[in-house]
Amino acid sequence: MLQTIYSPTGKDISCKSWETEALLRLLMNSLDPRVAENGQDLIVYGGTGKAARSKTMLRAIIKELQQLDSDSTLLIQSGKPIASFRTFSFFPRVLASAAMVVPAWATWKEFSRLEEKGLTMYGQATAASWAYIGVQGVLQATFETMSEVANRYFNGSLKGKIVLTSGLGGMGSAQPLSVTMNGGVAIVVEIDESKIQKRLMNNYCDIMAHTIDQALQLAEEAAQTGRPLAIALVGNAADVYCELVEKGVTPDIVTDQTAAHDLLHGYIPSGVSLEQAYFLRNKKPEKYVEMAMQTVTAHVAAIKMFQERGAVVFDYGNNIRGQAKKAGYEEAFDFPGFVSEYLRPLYCEGRGPCRWVALSGDPGDIYKIDEVILSEFKSDERICRWIRYVQDKIYFYGLPARTCWLNYKERDELGEIINHMVASGRLLAPVAITRDHSEGSTMAAPTRETEGMLDGSDAVADWPILNGLLNACAGASMVSIQHGGGVGIGNSIHSGMTAVADGSIESFERLQRLLKIDPGLNIIRHADAGYSTAQSMIDKLGIKKPL
Ligand code: NAD
Repeated sequence: MLQTIYSPTGKDISCKSWETEALLRLLMNSLDPRVAENGQDLIVYGGTGKAARSKTMLRAIIKELQQLDSDSTLLIQSGKPIASFRTFSFFPRVLASAAMVVPAWATWKEFSRLEEKGLTMYGQATAASWAYIGVQGVLQATFETMSEVANRYFNGSLKGKIVLTSGLGGMGSAQPLSVTMNGGVAIVVEIDESKIQKRLMNNYCDIMAHTIDQALQLAEEAAQTGRPLAIALVGNAADVYCELVEKGVTPDIVTDQTAAHDLLHGYIPSGVSLEQAYFLRNKKPEKYVEMAMQTVTAHVAAIKMFQERGAVVFDYGNNIRGQAKKAGYEEAFDFPGFVSEYLRPLYCEGRGPCRWVALSGDPGDIYKIDEVILSEFKSDERICRWIRYVQDKIYFYGLPARTCWLNYKERDELGEIINHMVASGRLLAPVAITRDHSEGSTMAAPTRETEGMLDGSDAVADWPILNGLLNACAGASMVSIQHGGGVGIGNSIHSGMTAVADGSIESFERLQRLLKIDPGLNIIRHADAGYSTAQSMIDKLGIKKPL
């Protein structure tokens, strides 16, 4: 059994530099039982997204990081430390590649075979890049999506509206809070009661219901009085959606965030209990997937039926449409994905999901940065509204962290501000600056980030590779190239990066170069595909682009 892992905090370090200490703390933080979905099995979130391949390899990574010189680079091959080489002090301390397989072999079947033999690891997105910070990491994207739905269809608020969705895992839990933050009522179907208990404890959900009728009654009462409410309903999502269709109930908005990208480990078929699922997936995996395919088809058909009856519906980034299509349901893509529908305009402006982590472990460091953001970025109402919301609603678990969608100029400025705050002693210790993988230039995923690109370049995956290479050259402390995050094996290629603001002049120089890359490439990716907002941003920001 693995000893429970918590990140070290405070000013004393066990590595040779703050740069490696930061990566060590992020790795350990992502496995903290308060942060990870199942740290004991090294599973961070998103089905089976892991931070290290095995317990032995985790221990070896920790030891390697503690011994790593500040001019060396450690290589991690799908969660296994394989070597360290002498490089340069300003090059990354860690380079990682996770779940990469040759394209023609990129199927779940082949991947599971390789994983079973201990040759690879599924790293989701921020699990293998050690940048996971718990539900908050995806909260703003979910909040912005719900705000965009409210703006487009409901006069700017979800007050009095009912959202039906599912999944209260690592990422899915952001849904109920995002709905109530927008004034609405959420019914979230989750099969695992222990997950519901966890979300009730941290206030992401307000109340648990055991029957559909009870959930409907609570939702209708709250919607009629305009009161925000997050109801977690114990049940199988597909069964609940089909029953609601039969009952003639049509919620205002319908989506889903079970881990349907991985039908074997992340999705429970109809009529199967949690215990039976555990048994069946180990003993009869093929039968299990066959049952899950039938369930996912009924699930997606029910969502389509809600759409026909007038609900706003969308795929929430778990490839549920792709799975239903694969199972033979031809109409699966009749409803849109959330990125192409609601988030792409933000990508075109160069906005993306930046996050920073206080390595001191002191929440005060995050609050001090919040205050500076509220004063320095006061003209950006979107950012200020967000910071005020999360200060009110979010409790910290593990290392205190903040996520915020920032644009080209803001990310650059924030890096300088944080580094200066560390140098002047206003913050107790250095800060790690990192991000989600979910941006236009950092993730190629034809059913999510790059779905329906104007020029048809959905499956072109050069962008995340160039993004990772450039981040490595510009001073990132860790860069990773990964496959299969979010939407599963065969469906995405993406890259992660982490930098450290330690207050030094070298760190200032690095951050100045580095923090322009993600938003800059995001703009260039979309300008290249023909999006006019992105094209005008290039001129406005003076970004160099040959064609
Ligand atoms: P997770 O594995 O932590 O949680 C999935 C949850 O779904 C579990 O609690 C599980 O019990 C529940 N579940 C599975 N089958 C069910 C069923 N039939 N009925 C009811 N509940 C069921 O996964 P996560 O981290 O929450 O991610 C969810 C999905 O979203 C994944 O596919 C992930 O890849 C994707 N994702 C989306 C975004 C986004 O921005 N929208 C970001 C990251 C990941």
